[in-house]
Amino acid sequence: LQDKLDKALHNIKGRGKITEINVAETVKEIRRALVDADVNYKIAKDLTKRVQDKALGQNVLTSLSPGQLMTKIVHDELVELMGGSQEGINLSGKPSVVLIAGLQGSGKTTFSGKLANYLKQKKAKNPLLVACDVYRPAAIEQLKVLGKQIGITVYTEEENKNPSSIAQNAINFAKENKHDVVIVDTAGRLAIDEAMMNEIKTVHQTIKPTETLFVVDSMTGQDAVNTAKSFNDTLNFDGVVLTKLDGDTRGGAALTIRTVVEKPIKFISTGEKMEALDLFYPERMADRILGMGDVVSLVERAQEQFDEEEAKKLHKKIAKNEFGFDDFLKQINQIKKMGNMKDLMGMLPGVGKAIKDVDINDDAFKHIEAIIHSMTPDERRTPSLINTTRKQRIARGAGRKIEDVNALMKQFEQMGKMMKMMQGPQGKQMMQMMSK
Ligand code: GDP
Ligand code: MG
Repeated sequence: LQDKLDKALHNIKGRGKITEINVAETVKEIRRALVDADVNYKIAKDLTKRVQDKALGQNVLTSLSPGQLMTKIVHDELVELMGGSQEGINLSGKPSVVLIAGLQGSGKTTFSGKLANYLKQKKAKNPLLVACDVYRPAAIEQLKVLGKQIGITVYTEEENKNPSSIAQNAINFAKENKHDVVIVDTAGRLAIDEAMMNEIKTVHQTIKPTETLFVVDSMTGQDAVNTAKSFNDTLNFDGVVLTKLDGDTRGGAALTIRTVVEKPIKFISTGEKMEALDLFYPERMADRILGMGDVVSLVERAQEQFDEEEAKKLHKKIAKNEFGFDDFLKQINQIKKMGNMKDLMGMLPGVGKAIKDVDINDDAFKHIEAIIHSMTPDERRTPSLINTTRKQRIARGAGRKIEDVNALMKQFEQMGKMMKMMQGPQGKQMMQMMSK
């Protein structure tokens, strides 16, 4: 989808004005890209119609290029379509009971573990996992293994073949043992069938969960939507968990499910590791779907934070190839003010994909700052001076390893490249806006 949208939007990039002709062309291609990515045809059609109307209604005097403007309009529409804002899960109730439903293989058991881990780590909860997949002994074992791994108690009744009664007993067990959240992992079938629906319905009626989450594999495309519909008709669930978004998945499922069942996507699962769970942010998903980096909001945020004088000076320095570590330090401070560094870098075209798997956190800045602080003014101004002996001295001064210094040097080089890139047409525009 990303490549196709890239192509579609490429058509309009660089053109001076948004006209009916280039909008019509672009919109047609965007629609095709969405449909190819499993977005329901009607939804894609409605979306692109709104994009077209908005694009044509835009004032062409704006300082954004038509390409950027179209990107922003499509982005905003995608966000809207996916519900606008993040929605958390309901943890009221003593204990709160979360029922996990979905097809076999969708990732229920994995997600149950992740959710328990998340609630324990981030919300200071004491969750209980409940194995209600009574058909496959391996499934119970799987949950036990996960529980052990993350230090969460798993409730099982190997002899009991009635999921409703297991779940009910588990809730009683939770009350007695001070567990404040009960996560009920259930059995799924490979496809929708009546027996499964009846079973999950009975469990649902018996335990009256505070939160029912429907888990769906994002790789199943249009089928995911039909499954979501069936489960929603039966359970009237509260939210959706979209799994396997780490693979070569299409963005279409997220868009369509949200629209068809009118329930929020609450979590996304991006890997088999217990940490690979994220809250669902429509903004980020739209960025991801667009894939080309949200230049527009980068500009917006940058504009808010950058001191215009600094920006002008910086621009000159980059032009003259005089960008040094002191400037790097200043940039870091700006970035820290602006928010998450990765988010921000991810907004730059071409950078988003490259840094997807890189772990950048605020702590990383501390080390960077320490290293830069132990460089001499000359070294900061002229980084090429920094040879191995100097690196060793710097590392010692900062209390870091030489590898850390090397990593920083590399990062610095990459930043230099990025800066160069920003001197292209898009970057020029950004700088113009900043110094306005
Ligand atoms: P269940 O049958 O619904 O309980 O599904 P499982 O939790 O057992 O998951 C089925 C398979 O998908 C397992 O091999 C999991 O490791 C894998 N899986 C689950 N979630 C993810 C995910 O987010 N990304 C990837 N790559 N694999 C996942
Ligand atoms: Mg399972």
